[in-house]
Amino acid sequence: MNTKIIKGGLSYFNSLIQSKHRPIPLYVNIFYTRRCNLRCDFCAAIKNPAKTGLTLDQWKECSDILFSLGNRFISITGGEPIIRRDLPAFINYLSKKSRLHSVISNGRLLNEDRLRELAEAGLMHLGVSTQSLIPGKHVKSQNRELFEMILKYKKKYRFEVSALITLTSDNVEEVPDIVRFLGQKGINVAPNIVTSGQGSWWFRNYCPTLQFNKTNFHKLKKTIDYLSRAKNVIYSLSF
Ligand code: SF4
Repeated sequence: MNTKIIKGGLSYFNSLIQSKHRPIPLYVNIFYTRRCNLRCDFCAAIKNPAKTGLTLDQWKECSDILFSLGNRFISITGGEPIIRRDLPAFINYLSKKSRLHSVISNGRLLNEDRLRELAEAGLMHLGVSTQSLIPGKHVKSQNRELFEMILKYKKKYRFEVSALITLTSDNVEEVPDIVRFLGQKGINVAPNIVTSGQGSWWFRNYCPTLQFNKTNFHKLKKTIDYLSRAKNVIYSLSF
């Protein structure tokens, strides 16, 4: 772990203590862009695209306002944040001030050059959305080689890596295999079960694979049982 992450972690810990006495936005997700190169069936961001977004300077200003409110951890998500070419500059801005941050990516635009750019800018944590390891099964199926490449840069630049998996009826039976594979690589996994149901857009009624029912609930239960025992499962984007 690099010294900036340790410094950021201590600062975050301090804000946790302060939050006992006053309200603090401890952990903030920002939608750096709503644009994305993929089209996932369960995605809420692209279902409701914004026509405009904030500029780099505006995001810097937002991060400063959050900082003044006591925030010490920003998760940069979207959309696909890596689609924006100014992302390394924003990471650099946060990193110079030792502010904990995480970039959540679908991984598709990550190649050696992009990864090096992010790492050199001071990336602290990379979260890779991973719905499957089976090619073509899901738009967010990941190549195992992607993780090999990420680990190479993680070792050199000492940022942290984890994988995020949304449990759906399509991948629920594969999830233990994914978690096992990533565990062998020393990568933590953050599982995510999205509240879903019939009748309302807020419950993502447009995506049937998010909905578990009487016929497939036993599969979800079996996978959750596995996750509760797996050593590389985390329940937040902690490092
Ligand atoms: S990769 Fe993420 S932002 Fe893009 S469509 Fe899928 S869920 Fe939405």
